[in-house]
This record gives sequence, C-alpha cells and structure tokens, in this order.
Amino acid sequence: MSAAPSLGTTPLLEVSNLRKHFFSPQRWLSAAKPPIQAVDGVSFSVARGETLSLVGESGCGKTTTAKSVLRLIEPTSGSVKLDGEELLSLDAAQMRAHRRHLQIIFQDPYASLSPRLSAGEIVAEPLRNFGDWSAAQRHERVQWLFSKVGLRPDAAKKYPHEFSGGQRQRLGIARALALGPKLIVCDEPVSALDVSVQAQVVNLLQDLQTEFGLAYLFVAHDLAVVRHISHRVAVMYLGHIVEVADRDTLFKAALHPYTESLLAAVPLPDPRIRRERILLQGDLPSPANPPPGCRFHTRCPLAQPVCKEQRPALTQRSVNNQGGQWVACHLR
Ligand code: SF4
Repeated sequence: MSAAPSLGTTPLLEVSNLRKHFFSPQRWLSAAKPPIQAVDGVSFSVARGETLSLVGESGCGKTTTAKSVLRLIEPTSGSVKLDGEELLSLDAAQMRAHRRHLQIIFQDPYASLSPRLSAGEIVAEPLRNFGDWSAAQRHERVQWLFSKVGLRPDAAKKYPHEFSGGQRQRLGIARALALGPKLIVCDEPVSALDVSVQAQVVNLLQDLQTEFGLAYLFVAHDLAVVRHISHRVAVMYLGHIVEVADRDTLFKAALHPYTESLLAAVPLPDPRIRRERILLQGDLPSPANPPPGCRFHTRCPLAQPVCKEQRPALTQRSVNNQGGQWVACHLR
C-alpha cells in the first residue's frame, strides 16, 4: 500500500498497519493453535470534524479496530497517532492523560451505564476522574451537557432504568462529551434503538459534530445509517480494509466486489426498483485460518487464479477533494 487513505489534510487520527492477533492464553496451546487475526494490517486516517465509518459483516474486525485505536484492547503492532503523537508507545499514566481526547459511545447504552449511579453522577464521572473540577463546576457542566444532548436538567436525579433507550444513549453521549474530546468512537451507537429513535440520535451526533468540530470513528453494520452520517466509509473484510471512499462515491460507484455485495443487500425504499442481488457463497472464513492471497477469493464471484496467490494492495483508483477511492482488488 502506498499510503493510508486520507483526506489529504493533516489528519487528527492516523492509523498505520494496525494488527490485533489474539493468541491462546495457554502457552502450550499457542504454539499449536494459530492466532486469530482479527485485525491484520489496517491503515486509515480521520480528519478533524470528519466521520469515517467502518463497515462490514459481523466478525470482520471493525469493533476490534476501534477498540485497538482506543487501547481498550492492546494492539499487537502498528501505529496510532493522535495529533501526531504516537499512542501505542505511551505508558499507562501517559495514556490516561490522553483519554480525555478520545472517548467512546457504546452499542448498548443500558449495559454501559452503572445502575447504581444517578444520571448526573454518570455524566460527572469523567469530570471527577480527570482534572480538578469543583463540585459547583461539575454541577454546572453536567447541566450544560444535559441541555446539549436534549435531556431536561432535572433528569440528573433519575437512574438509568428510569430512562428510555434513546434517553440512555443521550446520557452515554453526554458522558462521552464531558471532557471536550477531539474524537469519539461510536460503536454501533444506534443499532439497539428503535428505528424512529435512531434518526433522532444520529441527528444529535451530527449537530454536536458541527458545534464542537468532533471527529467520529463510526462502527456500524446498518448501511442506511452509515450513508446518512458518514463523510467517508472504510469497508472491512476478515481483518483487512478492502475499499475506502467518500460516502457518495462508495454508495454510487463501489468498486470492490465485497462492497457491491453489501450494498446489494440494502433494501430499496421504492419496491418498483429492482437491483441485482449478489449472493455471496459460503460463510465468512475463520480469521484463525484466513484464505491466502485475497481473503475474499473463497466467496468472490469474480475470483481468478491470481487472487488465491497474491494479496491485492489497497491502492488509490481515483482522486477527489474527499480523499479519493481506494480499493484492494486485482481486477477493479
Ligand atoms: Fe475478487 Fe480477486 Fe478482487 Fe479479491 S482480488 S475481490 S478475489 S476479483
């Protein structure tokens, strides 16, 4: 690969050749069992104020990539730079100081909120853990955060079980915003919500991005949501990025056969319009034993002999002011 797909401006987040391989915890088994190559050489960047979505089937490595960026799980190798500073070489204390810039919104808002804390205490928790906010400053900040995410200030006294799913996700967003982060990892933030509530939360995320210049690394499998919120989209398959493009290019003119198959599975709003479905053969192969060459060759309708032998590099196919289109395929 010649370079990490980027917008061309100085990136806020720069991820290079990131790997996360899971080894068997028992040493005597490690030698015999191959590691699970959940993420295997992933490179991308996110600009300030940009939303880059990571999409792909369950098990493609998108959540592992996002958690590795945050060091919620330790990457095996690679580089993760925030504002030019390498995060993977920081010790625990140094990393802690950077956590205020990097926050996460989880998929299941209920599971991510302590049931024993009031909503106000949950949102104030990062303020207690980082920096020296007085009680009065914390109270004022929490009230402000509640107003920013569309919650009434008096809701601070309630407990998580007293909120609806959408309100709980607003709480999760308020907590993520508390320290004024630069980048928020959104790990399937609306997939547990009703469709009507999903739109409200996605719109809220967009409004907050505009107001605060936030960057989002948005992990999702729902392509309708991805189309709505993304500036650029990176498609992952079995631990590799196979295509990156700006949102409009990807949805109108995808090049990688796997991206085409993902898009062909999205229902069209007009039932009179028919789209050719591309049915993938077989299941996603095991990341402990990925196919050689192009990892997609066992399911690709266009596969050629070369695809079984040589891994296609992610290379730039077209240029525009949104980073262009990058594809890993011998034929496209
Ligand atoms: Fe299909 Fe070959 Fe392209 Fe892989 S490299 S996506 S197998 S055509």
